[in-house]
Amino acid sequence: MSGLQKTSVLVVGAGIMGAGIAQVAAQAGHPVWLYDMREGAAQSALDKLHASLGALVAKGKMQADDVAGLLARITPAASLQDAASSTLVVEAIVEQVEAKRALWLQLEGIVGADCVFASNTSSISITAMAQGLRHPERLVGMHFFNPVPLMKLVEVVSGLHTAPQIAADVFALAQSWGKVAVHARSTPGFIVNRIARPYYAEALALLQEQCTSPVVLDACLKAIGFRMGPCELLDLIGHDTNFAVTQSVYQANFFDKRYMPSLLQRELVDGGLLGRKSGRGIYDYAEGAAKPQLATAQTAEAPARSGVQLHGSGARMDAWGKHLTAAGVAFSHVRNSDWIGLSTPTLQLRQTDGRTASSLGANVAVFDLAFAPEGSRVLAWAPSVRASAACAAEAQSWLSALGYQPQQVADQSALVVARTVAMLINEAADAVQQGVCTAEGANQAMKLGVNYPAGPFDWLAAWSAQGVIDVLNALDAEYRGERYRVSPWLRQQACAALGST
Ligand code: NAD
Repeated sequence: MSGLQKTSVLVVGAGIMGAGIAQVAAQAGHPVWLYDMREGAAQSALDKLHASLGALVAKGKMQADDVAGLLARITPAASLQDAASSTLVVEAIVEQVEAKRALWLQLEGIVGADCVFASNTSSISITAMAQGLRHPERLVGMHFFNPVPLMKLVEVVSGLHTAPQIAADVFALAQSWGKVAVHARSTPGFIVNRIARPYYAEALALLQEQCTSPVVLDACLKAIGFRMGPCELLDLIGHDTNFAVTQSVYQANFFDKRYMPSLLQRELVDGGLLGRKSGRGIYDYAEGAAKPQLATAQTAEAPARSGVQLHGSGARMDAWGKHLTAAGVAFSHVRNSDWIGLSTPTLQLRQTDGRTASSLGANVAVFDLAFAPEGSRVLAWAPSVRASAACAAEAQSWLSALGYQPQQVADQSALVVARTVAMLINEAADAVQQGVCTAEGANQAMKLGVNYPAGPFDWLAAWSAQGVIDVLNALDAEYRGERYRVSPWLRQQACAALGST
C-alpha cells in the first residue's frame, strides 16, 4: 500500500489541469491546497468547480453531500508557505523547464524532506527537471490527461534520479484515485504522445502526397473503430498545439527522420488555419461551408460467375466465402496461396502486403486491412496504374458485392489503414524495446489516454510481426530513409514466431 494514501496534497497551477487534479484528489478524500501565482486564480478555479459540480447534482449524477464534502476539502492557498505541511505536491504550471525547476527549488525550502514532488508535464524530461535539486530522487512525473476527472490514464514517469519507491507510491496513489496508472521511462513524449505520432504523421503525409481526401482518410480509420479520423482530430486539437508537440519530439530525438514534422501542417499553422478554433484547418468550419461527402455505397452483383478463386486463410476469407456462397457464386479456395484475396480470369484483388498494385501486375488491385472492431465497411482500394478501366471497375464491383463501401485512393504503398497501424505498432515496439513501457502498458495507455479502439499490441496479435515488417519494408522501399525502419523488437518477434525450425 502506498505511503501517500492519507497525504495532504498541494496542487500548484490552477489552470485546466491543476483544477482537475485538485478535484480528483479531493474526491478521493485528500485535503488539498490549490495555489496559483496569479492572484485570485485558485479561488476562481474553485468557483468554476462549484458551478460544474452543482450542475451534476442538479442532473442527479452526484450527491449534494459528496459535492459539499469534496469542495470543503479544497482550500485556495495564498502562498506556498500555507501548504508547508503537504506530503505530496502535484505541479501543473506553465510548460517551461526553468519555471518548473525554480518552483521545485523553492519548494525544497518550504516542505518537509519526505514530501513527494510530482510533475504533470507532458513533454519535459523528468531527469532534466530534477537536475540541481537537493533530493532529485523524490521527483516523478504524474501525467494526467485532459479532462482529468474523465480520463482514466495516468503515466507515472521515472527519470534517471527517480527512486523506484517514489514511482511505486505515486502509481498506487493514482490507482486509489480511480485511475489506471502505467509506468513510463522519461523519454520524449513518454508513452501516449510518442506512440500516437504516426496517427497524425501518416495522415498528413498521405494528404501531402495527394493519395486521397481528408474525408476518405478519416472514414477509413473510423472504419477500424477510431472515434475520430486523424484529420478531424488534428482540427480539434489545433494544428499549432499538435505541430508544437511534433516539433518537440523531433528535436528531442536529435532530428530522427522518424518524427519529422509535416510541411503541410507548417503551412496550416503559418496560415493561421489552426482547425476548429480558427474556423478552418484541414476542413472548413465556416457557416454554409460544403460538408465533404464520402462516395456512397452501391450494391453490386458479383461481376463474374466462373473461374472465381479465394486466396489465403483467416477470418476475412472465411467471411468472403460465406458471402459468395450466399450469393450463389461458385468458387474454389486456395488456402495456401501466398496472398489473400480473390481472383478471376481478369483480376487479382489482393489484400495489401505493403506493395503497390502497380508493382504486382497489370490486372491487379489492392485493398486495405481491416481490424475488429469494425466501425463501418468503408475500405480503401487502388488499382494498378496499368489496369484497364474494365479491370478497375471489376475490382470496385467485387468489393461492393462483398458488402464494402469501397473508396478508390492512389496506388500508394500500404494504402491507409495498413500504413498507419504498421507505424503505430512499430513505434510501440521501439518504446517497449527501449524500456519506456511494457506492451500491456502501451495498450492501456493508448486505449485510455487517447481512446484508441485497440492497443498497438492488440493489433499486432491480430496481424503478425512478419506482416507488419513486410508493410514497413515496402514503405521503406518506396520512400527510402529512416522513417520506416523496422523496430528490432519486431524482428525478434518475427524470428520467435518461426519457432525452433
Ligand atoms: P494552464 O495555462 O491552463 O494553467 C497553468 C496555470 O499555472 C495558470 O493558471 C498559471 O497562472 C499558473 N502558473 C504558471 N506559472 C506558475 C508558477 N510558477 N507558480 C504557480 N502557478 C503558475 O495550463 P494547463 O493546460 O493546465 O497545463 C499545465 C501543465 O499540465 C503543463 O505542464 C502542461 O504541459 C500539462 N498538461 C496539459 C494538458 C492539457 O491538455 N492542457 C494535458 C496534460 C498535461
